[in-house]
Amino acid sequence: MSKNFKQDVLSRRTFAIISHPDAGKTTLTEKLLLFGGAIRDAGTVKGKKTGKYATSDWMEIEKQRGISVTSSVMQFDYQNARVNILDTPGHQDFSEDTYRTLTAVDSAVMIIDSAKGIEEQTLKLFKVCKMRGIPIFTFINKLDRQGKPPLELLAELEEVMGIESYPMNWPIGMGKEFLGIYDRFYKRIEQFRVEDTEKYIPLNEDGEIEGDHSIKQDSLYDQTLEEIMLLNEAGNEFSEEKINNGDLTPVFFGSALSNFGVQTFLETYLQFAPSPQARKSSMGEIDPLSEEFSGFIFKIQANMNPAHRDRIAFLRICSGKFERGMTVNLPRTGKQVKLAQSTQFMADDRSTVNEAVSGDIIGLYDPGFYQIGDTLTVSKNAFQYEKLPQFTPELFVKVTAKNVMKQKHFHKGIQQLVQEGAIQLYKTVKTEDYLLGAVGQLQFEVFEHRMRNEYNVEVIMEHVGSKIARWLVDEEVNENLSSGRSLLVEDRFGKKAFLFENEFALRWFQDKNPEVKLYNPMDEQ
Ligand code: GDP
Repeated sequence: MSKNFKQDVLSRRTFAIISHPDAGKTTLTEKLLLFGGAIRDAGTVKGKKTGKYATSDWMEIEKQRGISVTSSVMQFDYQNARVNILDTPGHQDFSEDTYRTLTAVDSAVMIIDSAKGIEEQTLKLFKVCKMRGIPIFTFINKLDRQGKPPLELLAELEEVMGIESYPMNWPIGMGKEFLGIYDRFYKRIEQFRVEDTEKYIPLNEDGEIEGDHSIKQDSLYDQTLEEIMLLNEAGNEFSEEKINNGDLTPVFFGSALSNFGVQTFLETYLQFAPSPQARKSSMGEIDPLSEEFSGFIFKIQANMNPAHRDRIAFLRICSGKFERGMTVNLPRTGKQVKLAQSTQFMADDRSTVNEAVSGDIIGLYDPGFYQIGDTLTVSKNAFQYEKLPQFTPELFVKVTAKNVMKQKHFHKGIQQLVQEGAIQLYKTVKTEDYLLGAVGQLQFEVFEHRMRNEYNVEVIMEHVGSKIARWLVDEEVNENLSSGRSLLVEDRFGKKAFLFENEFALRWFQDKNPEVKLYNPMDEQ
């Protein structure tokens, strides 16, 4: 294929931002988009207060709650790179969505609030990245406020997360006394709240300011020099190889809200972040530079545009070039699909995409035949990409339509929302009741809200509580084994499972019915 194709692929930087809610992900994303020229005004983040919303929080429910529910994809060009940012919901009830999104990126940016240090959700998401070997870049945010001492934050990274760190820059003071950052990489000091022409002070060979400068009078400058010396002597060495393997995280300090350190971060990040990586498949690793187009669907979302009631499948391109109108194979069904309607994203703006290459994320119009995890390829070999992580729901509700006349809308809404993968649908085998299963309570609330807003159906949800779901190895089963403590249900693929009241009920059932073989899909991952 052409030289351009190779250059195009190598210019891609596809990443997700992970953090605990409120660390500043939306603010940082907006600032990055501003640099990329992808938006003109930063929507003020907490829309509830100002009436304006962050560009990446575009669903009604998100506006109401001020949290990001679904991952959106944003693309922009910066210098010679094409950047694809995959936004992820910070709230833990949506971690499933985030985990799947992380299968579609080549690196991750982790934001830490300098006052809070490492928080629970950040740690969880970090572990997923680490397990997948995804390179992680750290942005320590909110330096305009008093936070923990930077050395303590580094120690936390190493001790709590078990990852080596390399500070690319270092703060000079913080909060009210924040003077700027000492940039080890660009060998300069970047001053906080100082006009552009004087913003940067170059450093000499010894890493100090040559000649006179008022900042040298400040004791914070001396303290920074001491800390830098400590880092040079006792800190980790910079290693691109370790970054690529996810064993060392480059650390940046700044303030997303004040737009300080963000551009420096972006430029350095783009230099060291990996271009599209090879991905595992049933046929071995697939090279992103290989000519045959392939990719996998990591997310399906209904009603991205409520006016059209449509559904979009998000595809990560893993090799070759996408051209609109091309025909590809869907190995799961053995059928062919013509990819005629394809979109690119900029939050709620969409435009038709005619060409895209490895590393890019495109949206495909889904008339209902895609599933999360599907591979699409032009290859004659019906290979499939690795299975996506699956979660066994733990919380269940029984769901019915308030108005029996709305059954048609009710079924359509359930079917479409379930296809997105955040909630699971089950039918009790004996009574044919509908049960919904989810990992977090908030997913039910989103479901209820969307049924009302998008399908015009009021639903009644009765709590069934938490259950342990185990699937049957053999489909043949005595239906009389179903009881309140071990409820027999069928999932939406027609597979039977028991929902147990608790661990005790599960063990009791297994003791009494050793011939019934059960499994947990999560154990196979
Ligand atoms: P998210 O939940 O991670 O997306 O966090 P947001 O971007 O919504 O930020 C949470 C809050 O922190 C908001 O009130 C922001 O204005 C504030 N914030 C974000 N970045 C900074 C920063 O650099 N300094 C300060 N002081 N506040 C910030």
